[in-house]
Amino acid sequence: MTDRLYYHDSFLYDFDAEVREVLDSPRPAFILDRTAFYPTSGGQVHDTGSITSDANAKFRVTEVADTEDGRVVHYVEAVSDNQKNDTNPGDLKPGTRVRGLIDAARRRDHMQQHSGQHVLSAAFLRLDNMPTVSFHMADDYCSIDLDTPSLTKEQIESAERLANEIILENRGVDIRFVTREEAGNLGLRKLPPTERDELRLIDIRDFDLSACGGTHVAQTGQIASILLRKTEKVRQGWRVEFVAGQRAVATARRDFSTLTETAALFSAHIYDVPQQARKSLDEIRTLRKQREQSQEELAAAQAAALLAETAEVSGRKLVVRTLADRDLNFVKLLAQKLTRLSPHAVALLATTSPQPSLVFAQSAGLPLDMGALMKETMTKLGGRGGGSKDLAQGGVPSADGIDSALKAIAEKLMA
Ligand SMILES: [Zn+2]
Repeated sequence: MTDRLYYHDSFLYDFDAEVREVLDSPRPAFILDRTAFYPTSGGQVHDTGSITSDANAKFRVTEVADTEDGRVVHYVEAVSDNQKNDTNPGDLKPGTRVRGLIDAARRRDHMQQHSGQHVLSAAFLRLDNMPTVSFHMADDYCSIDLDTPSLTKEQIESAERLANEIILENRGVDIRFVTREEAGNLGLRKLPPTERDELRLIDIRDFDLSACGGTHVAQTGQIASILLRKTEKVRQGWRVEFVAGQRAVATARRDFSTLTETAALFSAHIYDVPQQARKSLDEIRTLRKQREQSQEELAAAQAAALLAETAEVSGRKLVVRTLADRDLNFVKLLAQKLTRLSPHAVALLATTSPQPSLVFAQSAGLPLDMGALMKETMTKLGGRGGGSKDLAQGGVPSADGIDSALKAIAEKLMA
């Protein structure tokens, strides 16, 4: 079993060790007699850093994992050196002395998130009797799942406030080792499911006591701050996203930038953004309604004018017209008005832009088949479309040929 130095000191970033095993599959990896590298477990992600041999061969530690029998595996990549050739991990022999260096900024961040989680979980338990059932640490935020059927805004805010008070009080965070039997009488917030005899306890003075193998700060002040973010209902309760320490500052900074950019669009103060956005949406809704009404009126007027200037031939008023800068909806509206205003109208309409489209329509009861006529026209123009006996529509790839196609159909219908 690897001696885990981080069990006793989370701030140990630099250590000496001896290579015990060199693995080459699936990836090159070292197993050392002792390590300060934290392997991914208990919701906390692994450390990164470097391992350098006494002969100065340097390897980047890219991932650290636990084995079932208690060894810590350091997955490594050789670091190129301009002076000499790369050294293969396989060149290191068991017994080689090495020095391990942990990426301290990453470790510090993980300690802040993980210790922040202990404080937050204890706060939800104390205030609202909501136990934490799982913890997840992602690259930009963390989350806990609470076993509760409901979670209010007030509960979120008071847990956040209490957690930050505990941070401000700079309480000691002690590491203790006890037997499982001793632990049973201590009232732990969390007991691990494994059958280990010795338990490692993380004791946040007079606030939280739980068994945990992770890396934690030495005093709560080092967590710096906790900011609660999104909450959502999940299968077994409620998920609460949070960020601690520098992540909280970085997240608040990003939120502020986003809000400032949005506020500038409205020429408003950031706190007035919701009100301004609501006002704009209301305006858009009103304008959309007004536009619909105007289109109706325009289509009705245009239909009346077209019918007035079209002579009735053999009991039929054939209106042929190609429009520009009108969308398909308007053309359909116009066709509808034409066939409703007159009982004898046949409309062959088209628009060239924004999307070249055609609409054929006839007044109810007339004997032609607009759907069939449209299909035939689409075949000629290379478009797609169809419809019913009285109304059909189609779209074509280009406006070229629309006019001549309409003219040909009109001549056929007049014949
Ligand atoms: Zn922990």
